[in-house]
Amino acid sequence: MRLANKTALITGAGSGMGRLAARMFAKEGAEVVAVDLAEGQLAETVESVKGEGGAIVGVTADVSQAEEVRRAVEEGAGAFGRLNVIYNNAGIFPGEDGSVVDLDEAVYQRVLDVNVKGTYLCCKYGIPELIKAGGGSIINVASFVALMGCTVPQDAYTASKGAVVSLTRSLAVQYGRHHIRANALCPGPIETPMLQELLRDPAERDKRLTRIPLGRFGRAKDVVYAAIYLASDESSWTTGTTFVVDGGISVNYF
Ligand code: NAD
Repeated sequence: MRLANKTALITGAGSGMGRLAARMFAKEGAEVVAVDLAEGQLAETVESVKGEGGAIVGVTADVSQAEEVRRAVEEGAGAFGRLNVIYNNAGIFPGEDGSVVDLDEAVYQRVLDVNVKGTYLCCKYGIPELIKAGGGSIINVASFVALMGCTVPQDAYTASKGAVVSLTRSLAVQYGRHHIRANALCPGPIETPMLQELLRDPAERDKRLTRIPLGRFGRAKDVVYAAIYLASDESSWTTGTTFVVDGGISVNYF
């Protein structure tokens, strides 16, 4: 199994890619610390992983709140005696996001708080545990929108994911000598609950689909397979990358 003897903390594990990651990491032998704000959804993830014979604990926490993140790391590392992987997957993409001129300040702040501060806090409390374990892997979920401009503005989200990419590079450089790797995983448009509403509109769907060279939207597992690689020792010389899994959308000029 590719993740045997590893404990992985996965945020946003109550839905979409985070939920599937909890299941697929556990199947690869990882002990999973599943974190989410949504208690009921998190409980469903925990039950399904247990039902499949996996090792998992769930911790309800808001990644933008320092004390809650500190407790999640403490409970997670305590439950399994170590922490080897931090998978910062929790993120929000609110419908009220837009262009800077119209964007409400509170919406902007909340997006930055969850997507960037949440990543910062999980690293703040998680990295000392990785160091104790002799090293580890940090996977920070950014997005293809961090790498290219977009005429359909979602400026808070775009700014937040750009920050995640830069922060990840800095962590890779700072903590390499501690055998800690940090990579920014950049998905293209993936059919998860986050995009479901938007993609129900055929015009919105087609607008995006024509840009994807591989001719389909991504599936959660397309991204989780990449995360398994980044979490495992197979990627032991891979750090500081923007690891793009996007069906080719970010290299499409026309
Ligand atoms: P999703 O909406 O299905 O799941 C996100 C999960 O994060 C939910 O369970 C939610 O409760 C949780 N969450 C939200 N705020 C939280 C907080 N403050 N604290 C703890 N948990 C919180 O989303 P998804 O599509 O699976 O997205 C996962 C990640 O991938 C996000 O970071 C997202 O920005 C990124 N991403 C998604 C796409 C896409 O097309 N779906 C594309 C690029 C990047």
